[in-house]
Amino acid sequence: MKNKNINLILRGIKTLFQMDKVYVLQNIFISFISPIGSYINIYVSALIIDKLIAKDTDVWYAVVGILLFNALFSVFISFISRKKDLRFSTYFQANERMLRAEKSMRMRYDLLESNSVHMLCEHINGANQNGFNLNYFNIFLSRLVSSISNIVYSIVLMSGLLFSGEFPIVLKLIVIFGASAVIVLKYFVSEKAQKLGFEMNNKLIKHNILYNYYSELCEDYQSGKDTRLFHLESYIFDTYKKAMADGNNVIVDTKKKTLGYNQIADISMNVLTAVLYVCVITGCVLGSVTVGGITKYISAVTTFIGTVGALLSQYKSLVYNNKYMEKYFEYLDLENGEDEGELEITKTDNLGYSVSFENVSFRYPGTDNLVLKDVSFTIEPGKKAALVGLNGSGKTTIVKLLCRLYKPDSGKILLNGKDIWDYDLADYVKHMGVVFQDFKLFAFTLSENLSAGEPIDHAFARECLEICGFGERLNTLPDGVDTYLYRNYDDNGIEISGGEAQKVALARAVYRKPECVILDEPTAALDPIAEYDIYSKFKEIIDGNTAVYISHRLSSCRFCDVIFVISDGKIAEIGSHDELVSRDGGIYSEMWNSQAQFYVN
Ligand code: ADP
Repeated sequence: MKNKNINLILRGIKTLFQMDKVYVLQNIFISFISPIGSYINIYVSALIIDKLIAKDTDVWYAVVGILLFNALFSVFISFISRKKDLRFSTYFQANERMLRAEKSMRMRYDLLESNSVHMLCEHINGANQNGFNLNYFNIFLSRLVSSISNIVYSIVLMSGLLFSGEFPIVLKLIVIFGASAVIVLKYFVSEKAQKLGFEMNNKLIKHNILYNYYSELCEDYQSGKDTRLFHLESYIFDTYKKAMADGNNVIVDTKKKTLGYNQIADISMNVLTAVLYVCVITGCVLGSVTVGGITKYISAVTTFIGTVGALLSQYKSLVYNNKYMEKYFEYLDLENGEDEGELEITKTDNLGYSVSFENVSFRYPGTDNLVLKDVSFTIEPGKKAALVGLNGSGKTTIVKLLCRLYKPDSGKILLNGKDIWDYDLADYVKHMGVVFQDFKLFAFTLSENLSAGEPIDHAFARECLEICGFGERLNTLPDGVDTYLYRNYDDNGIEISGGEAQKVALARAVYRKPECVILDEPTAALDPIAEYDIYSKFKEIIDGNTAVYISHRLSSCRFCDVIFVISDGKIAEIGSHDELVSRDGGIYSEMWNSQAQFYVN
């Protein structure tokens, strides 16, 4: 346990340096150097008093010297502090955020999506917000260094008292025992207060997760429509207020309890200060301490006690912080599930790719139900296949597996006869043109959305948008394909309708010139005329390529070479439209007839 704590602390400090070495060194330097100013002032003040009493005319040198020192020292400290603070906000914090963002971006989709990873992220965010994790190490490091420097400086000042042969031994023992007793008492009291503080912060993390979610909902314009139409304003705002009030109650409760502990520490310190005064003034009366020495020694001893007590309890607080750091590092150490395949895709002929599912079974991570059960089918090169079935039958899951978002539990998925997981992932996805039901467009320009990080071909981007039916809207945009989507960071950004978004998403798939096209209900928000128009053009573009369509409008599946009917995670029927529609009692014919009756009637 001890080793584990020490290892976590060492790794925490190492990670701190990795975030920004310059900032950490500046922080250490300033924490060490800052306390020296007060000690020099205490020392020189004592000197001035003694010189005044001795009517020494040299006193003016000491006065001018200390004033000059204070002026130069404060300028120096504030100069370094400003540099350090700037470094903190520009590098340290940004690098820490990037460390976690990079981890999430590199993680395989199924791992990122899992509930355990999601909860881990929420926990880390909550802990960060409450000043734990690396932030805590940061504060700890500066406290540690300033404590050590305080201890060193106060020992130097105290040495005149404790190592003086003239200060009576009885008084020395009273000072040493009194100081030790208060240090021990302060340690236990502050440990108790810290424990309460940590328990408080632990409870606050849960409130913060809720609080953040609801406060974001209040400001999020994209959910604003649903909020208003379902009259959720009061519900959301009340829950938000309740989360805030609950959090505040936790804080008030804890503060009430810690107040008692802090008062015990304060009272013990006051008693000790009184004892110190008695000892030092007695020493002064006996002639072993100068008048100036009275305040010097009392300040040195009280600072020493406060610092040693704090230093001891700081280690304890680091052990508490380790509970958060464990989760922090657990996240950073999670497997990314990186792709190991290295094969390049080579087309076997000019007729697109073949896709085969061989006895594929699958359940989503963390769930018990098999969503796909021993699914086998083949799509010949260049053929168009439709996946048809009721909601929840497993169509999208098939597509997700084909896109390598998840690995099958058993069975194999083959592209051109080779396991899709043997291909290099970047090369594999380059050949896929995918539009999911819940596709996401980004707050980039239209052309950036299409080119997806590759050099932009503006003319081709325009052509793809036109092919997919977005041409008319594009002509109304002064910045054309360089128009920003949404208004996240451009006032001239545009809002688009659901149908228009689908057109842009389709254009993004076309822009890749994919060999294999996968469309999961990409036209659900389009009117039938727009859908027909786009599908006709799409057919032309992807002619010769393999395609997989999912659509609830069976009329759009008619042009497919083969239709797979999925029912309860299994392939229930296979055939062309004409074959399946004429199969009496078949699922497809039933679905077809139930849709057709609305048009006929
Ligand atoms: P379809 O596309 O045919 O409507 P899906 O393939 O989306 O059906 O879903 C099949 C089943 O898998 C459903 O029961 C659904 O609840 C479940 N499912 C889908 N996505 C997930 C997920 N990410 N985690 C757990 N279960 C899921």
